[in-house]
Amino acid sequence: MPNKKVSFWNSIVIKSSLLFTTIIIIALFLLGYLINRKSTKVIYDYSQNQIVHVSSLVKQSFYSMLNEVANDIAMISKSPAIDDYIDNPNIKNYKVLEKYFPIILQEKPDYFQIRLLDVANKGKEIIKYEKINNLIKKVSLDKLQYKGGKKYYKEATALDDESYYYSEINLNEEFGEISIPHTPTLRAIGKVFNNKGQLKTLLVINVDVSAFFEEVNQIEKQGIETILVNQNGEYKYTNDFSKCFGMQLGTKDALENDYEIILNEFLSETDRNGMFSNHQNIPYLYYLDEVPYSDGIHSLYLITLASKEAILINVAKINRDSLVMVIIVCLFFLAIIYAYSNFFSKKLTKITSAISDYEKGNASNDHLVNVKKRKDEVGILARSFSTMRKEIDFRVVELKESLKREKKAVAEKNEFLQNMSHELRTPLNAILGLTQLLHKNKPSSTQVPIIDSLHRSTSNLNGLMHDILDQQKLMTGQITLHPVATNIYEQLQSIVSNYRFEAIHKGLQLNLVAPSELKEKYYLIDPLRFNQVVTNLLVNALKYTTVGQIEILANLQENDNIRLTIDVRDTGQGIDAKNLHNIKERFFRVINENTLRIDGFGLGLSIVKKIVDLFGGDLNVTSELGKGSIFNFSIPIEEAPFDSSTVSEVVIAHPKLIGVYGILHIEDDAPSQLMIKNTLELMGISIVQTNSIHQALKLLSNNHFDLILTDLMLDAELITEYVKKDLSQYGIPIVITSALEPLKFRKLGIDYLQKPIDLDQLADKVISTIGKNEYDVPLLKNVYEQYDNRQEKVINYLKLLLSEFDHYLLRFNEVSRSRNQKEWKAIKHKIVTHINTLELTRLKDALPEKIEDLNQDTLNMLLNQIKFMLCYFRNELRINSIN
Ligand code: ADP
Repeated sequence: MPNKKVSFWNSIVIKSSLLFTTIIIIALFLLGYLINRKSTKVIYDYSQNQIVHVSSLVKQSFYSMLNEVANDIAMISKSPAIDDYIDNPNIKNYKVLEKYFPIILQEKPDYFQIRLLDVANKGKEIIKYEKINNLIKKVSLDKLQYKGGKKYYKEATALDDESYYYSEINLNEEFGEISIPHTPTLRAIGKVFNNKGQLKTLLVINVDVSAFFEEVNQIEKQGIETILVNQNGEYKYTNDFSKCFGMQLGTKDALENDYEIILNEFLSETDRNGMFSNHQNIPYLYYLDEVPYSDGIHSLYLITLASKEAILINVAKINRDSLVMVIIVCLFFLAIIYAYSNFFSKKLTKITSAISDYEKGNASNDHLVNVKKRKDEVGILARSFSTMRKEIDFRVVELKESLKREKKAVAEKNEFLQNMSHELRTPLNAILGLTQLLHKNKPSSTQVPIIDSLHRSTSNLNGLMHDILDQQKLMTGQITLHPVATNIYEQLQSIVSNYRFEAIHKGLQLNLVAPSELKEKYYLIDPLRFNQVVTNLLVNALKYTTVGQIEILANLQENDNIRLTIDVRDTGQGIDAKNLHNIKERFFRVINENTLRIDGFGLGLSIVKKIVDLFGGDLNVTSELGKGSIFNFSIPIEEAPFDSSTVSEVVIAHPKLIGVYGILHIEDDAPSQLMIKNTLELMGISIVQTNSIHQALKLLSNNHFDLILTDLMLDAELITEYVKKDLSQYGIPIVITSALEPLKFRKLGIDYLQKPIDLDQLADKVISTIGKNEYDVPLLKNVYEQYDNRQEKVINYLKLLLSEFDHYLLRFNEVSRSRNQKEWKAIKHKIVTHINTLELTRLKDALPEKIEDLNQDTLNMLLNQIKFMLCYFRNELRINSIN
């Protein structure tokens, strides 16, 4: 019974919920990823802008410092004190300067030195005040120097009259010594003219730029650094003040030493964003700008930068936040979906429970009462199921009834067919015999074709009865295969010889071609069913061929296993392509205007097909209309598991007769004479044939015969009289062949063979009669007595004997090879029971005590004795089977 409870993973609701959850999670993660990408870009752009912004602030601050100094210089140089002194450089005016200059230093905290240089006197310092530790002091006259040779003096005087000169920012030096404390200094110089416009002095102010650096320090936002370098990469300002002024201090600290750059290339293009790493491989985003001043004589390079990691810290934060957000949203959705799926799965479970209950036979509607009221798909499903259930219930009842009726009809049909076939077989046999009788009673030439037609139709009908019975058994699976070690070649040969007569009669050639292996080896196959298949195909070939030849080709194919293929080829009327696929169907026959007479009933091939199926093989047909047909079947077979070289001779069903025997055959039908002659001569028996009773009696008087075989077209009484009076006087066994009702002969105690003659039966009959001279005859009298002459029991016992003695053939053969004393004892032990019951003294005496005493002659004798008994049993079985 199938599992009714839907497992978690098989539930559609769960599956769809999971699907949607997965889609939502994927969508959220995708969204998170996109947001992350976007935010990363935004943060990068923002950081970039910030860097540029800081750079512009620093630049502005620098220029405003320069502007302030310029304004101061303009104001001071235009002051009356300086004006007066230039126009009239006397002591009085000098004294005024001495008062004025300290005030300037006093008022401007960043200015720590102020001087006037005499342009006319090689730049000799006229007056110089300095501020050290907030103490303003005048430099004594003897310490005043000539500055005309200094670089800044020359650069300042070369400038336009209106321009102010600003030196490079350096640490202040006095007399070649760096002043302590280190003071980053910018020298600002303005030109001072007299009222005639002549350049008289230069006003020099040393500005301490620490305040500017402090301001830069303030501007630097968190994470953004500022670096000021000159064209040589010497730091003028950086966070680490100890690195500044490396050239001047001799520390050689410079931009190139800290960052992965080539200075010239790096500074060659300004006003740009970029990225570089320091020597610790930390990447930085930067903005580089040039800050030119003093009419472009000097330039500072301003680099504002931020480490990438610092920027990414923000991105990471956004990522973390969005991940938390996504997880929260996912959990939220999961909770909703869980609630939703739970709700619907409960509804659906009610429907599935109702269905499974229904399957178990519980038709209760309880589960669905509420669900059916719903307006959604679940409600529709529940309602549809309810309606469907009613419909199914109704149909099931109907179906059961019609099935019952059909079963009954089929059973009745089968019973009828079977009974009819059984019932018809007896009168049919009689009609067959009678038609033969009519033939012998010298019919007129106009009667002959009528009798022929009657005979043919009756034997067709007889065949049909057999086929119907077989077909029925095949359909109901009553036929099973009984594979035994079989010489396939011999089987084929026997089939061919059975139909040779008919072939000769029709003027057709009939050939059998088989490989030598099939002649020498034994294979496990059911010989009865194999014969039936080949016979049916051969009968068809004979039926549908009027000129040419029929060929049976046997072949073995050996790959992983062995397959036997049989071709039955004819040069007959062939089959139209359109009918090829139908011919294996039951009761199918080809009917066309060329088919003058229909001989079949369309059962033969369907039986062949079913048996070939049973064998596990396949049946194929190729045919061309008017040219002939090839029926081919191929079946898997197995080699019999014993040494075939010894068995090949042994398994032949008939024993060898050593003596020379003669048979008198009284028969007036020439083809029948030919067939029986062929068969008996093949067995090494000489045969004398005659078609008249007088001639027969004459032959009997003058010759010795071991058996009389007679076919007399007389009625039963005449036959009896003739047999009892005329023939029995010679004391020779007599066998009558007749198409008449067999039971009569049996009752009269006359040995009898039913016509049409089966050649195997003929051989069994002849051997069990003549063979008595050479072999022990089993005393079946004991058996009949034992079973009170009850036919059914006797038949069963004979069947048992047949199978047991058949088995002894194999066991004798095997033990002769294995020389196994234990097995020999076992066989002897078993066979002795039969020997005693059937009083087989010769057989008993021939069995040696020990296996080593079993020589080839004794073995052959034993085997022939068994084969004789098999013939005898078969014959007896046939006699007993006649009802
Ligand atoms: P039937 O008893 O009619 O022969 P089968 O089942 O044996 O029934 O064959 C079915 C039909 O196949 C036959 O009626 C016949 O037309 C066709 N057929 C079978 N064997 C041959 C053959 N060897 N040559 C031509 N036609 C054949």
